Amino acid sequence: MVGYIKGIFRGLGSLLTGMKVTFKEFFTRKITEQYPENRAVLKMHDRFCGELVMPDESKCIACGLCQMACPNSTIKITTEPVTDPETGKTRKRLVKYEYDLGSCMFCHLCVNACPHDAIRFSTEFEHAVFTRSKLVKILNKQ
Ligand code: SF4
Ligand code: SF4
Repeated sequence: MVGYIKGIFRGLGSLLTGMKVTFKEFFTRKITEQYPENRAVLKMHDRFCGELVMPDESKCIACGLCQMACPNSTIKITTEPVTDPETGKTRKRLVKYEYDLGSCMFCHLCVNACPHDAIRFSTEFEHAVFTRSKLVKILNKQ
């Protein structure tokens, strides 16, 4: 009988411990995002990796380091040689920068490998499409 009553009190104590957390959370500020209603004012975290972008393609020297650093072959760079008429030196020029968002792991290795900060991740996260081919993006203007 004593054990039974002790069990009831232990159960009540356990219930009150759980309710303490419930009541605390009941009065704390809510952070639920009402998406997509708040789409216009939604602010993503700065470090969120949405998709790879090339804001200034003149920074890209077509070195291919990002392509080599990518473990998933997500980046495909096409280059062409151009000769400087004054110096006679030949260097590579970026023709096409293909990025397949569908196979990207968002590991950031490409961005870290770029010596000229030519690429970065934007916080854009709405990527729903009906065909996978639409996830292949050309990052430079060509
Ligand atoms: S984030 Fe990773 S997987 Fe995506 S393109 Fe860069 S290196 Fe490749
Ligand atoms: S984006 Fe950066 S790493 Fe990639 S080819 Fe251009 S300069 Fe090189």
